[in-house]
Amino acid sequence: MIQKQRGTIDILPGESEVWQWMENKIKETAALYGYSEIRLPTFESSELYKRGVGETSDVVQKEMYSFEDNDRRSITLRPEGTAGVVRSVIENGLASGAMPLPLYYLISCFRYEKPEAGRSREFYQFGVEQFGAENPAADANVISLGYDIFKNLGLDVSLEINSIGCRHCRPIYHKALHDYFESCKDDLCETCLDRLDKNPLRILDCKSPVCSEYAKNAPKTIDYLCPDCKKHLDELKVYLDRAGIKYNVNPKIVRGLDYYQRTVFEFISEDIGSKSTICGGGRYDGLVEELGGPRLPGIGFAMGLTRVMLALKSANKIPEFDTAPALYIASMGDSARLKSFEMSLAFKKHGLNVTFDQVGRSLKAQMKYADKTGAKFSLVLGDSELEAGKATLKNMANGETVEVDINDISDIVDKMQN
Ligand code: ATP
Ligand code: MG
Repeated sequence: MIQKQRGTIDILPGESEVWQWMENKIKETAALYGYSEIRLPTFESSELYKRGVGETSDVVQKEMYSFEDNDRRSITLRPEGTAGVVRSVIENGLASGAMPLPLYYLISCFRYEKPEAGRSREFYQFGVEQFGAENPAADANVISLGYDIFKNLGLDVSLEINSIGCRHCRPIYHKALHDYFESCKDDLCETCLDRLDKNPLRILDCKSPVCSEYAKNAPKTIDYLCPDCKKHLDELKVYLDRAGIKYNVNPKIVRGLDYYQRTVFEFISEDIGSKSTICGGGRYDGLVEELGGPRLPGIGFAMGLTRVMLALKSANKIPEFDTAPALYIASMGDSARLKSFEMSLAFKKHGLNVTFDQVGRSLKAQMKYADKTGAKFSLVLGDSELEAGKATLKNMANGETVEVDINDISDIVDKMQN
């Protein structure tokens, strides 16, 4: 038997309803903030991610699903959403349209990682990107959207923010960081040794115990901010305070890409154990230019839906879903089955899920099936019912019956609903 690939999941009926509920809540919240959906290809040129995610990132260094297609082009299954959105914004000329431009996506992403709870090789993300606003009001608005999504899902999360400076103050910070890690160079992991000269900020992100121990005492970005970056962070705090959103300034949060600047943030959930970052985001004012577009600031976040689902489960926040049919029409004989099909279609015009026997089973087997589906009412059609135009509607919960006219669908609907 062929089995699913390691690190992938099947979402089956019963659970897919929960996913739809979660996704609808998220989309409704995004709509309140004026966001429109953008749908993009699942694969892009590998070059896009090398430049858009960064050569020194874990994603590009070891996690990409890349392959050569028949034309010998290097293709990559999207490991994240931002690079593709920026590519599309540039390619479709959206960069010269009305600003700010707020976009969202619901996608699956692919990363070759060691699968564990909350970490899979195909995983789902909800992400937003907003272009064209540099003001801290934009940062606050984007963070507030993330905050509201968790609130609307009934999840308790905490918010950690930081600023990683800009092209003016970052080089000074980089040097301080480089000098600090240089002194413990011999203990760093191989990946971080490589990062030391290329992008020391990345070392702060390393998950190896030794590197993260050293990272604890490393120089902090906020101590190196230039006056403009400091002002930006201070104003963001004012906006968050006004929104009543609590936050903690955490100097350990970094997004180690050159074109990430100023605001970076994470939402943390206590409900998912050690893999507690449920949503991460930041400002990437240099990315559009890096990918060949105009100078256009941007800020966004990506929320890991697989982790949101874990949090919903462990915090017991998943509602009950009623997928049972309103009515099951059992039938005996071909004419009765044909009539039951016709009736089922008429019920759909009233917005009701009504099912009928499509198998040609015995009446006993049909009733057993009706029970299994949890149908709320049942009705049996045979030759005599067809002739008389009448049948018995049965309430499956309490066994009560009432005679109905099989050609008066509205009346049956009334009787089921009252
Ligand atoms: P981590 O440090 O946990 O590897 P990351 O920094 O690689 O996360 P991002 O690239 O910021 O993650 O992606 C945003 C969000 O997507 C994460 O906060 C997380 O919730 C989710 N995510 C990332 N990788 C995975 C994965 N392999 N499986 C499930 N969810 C993931
Ligand atoms: Mg990762």
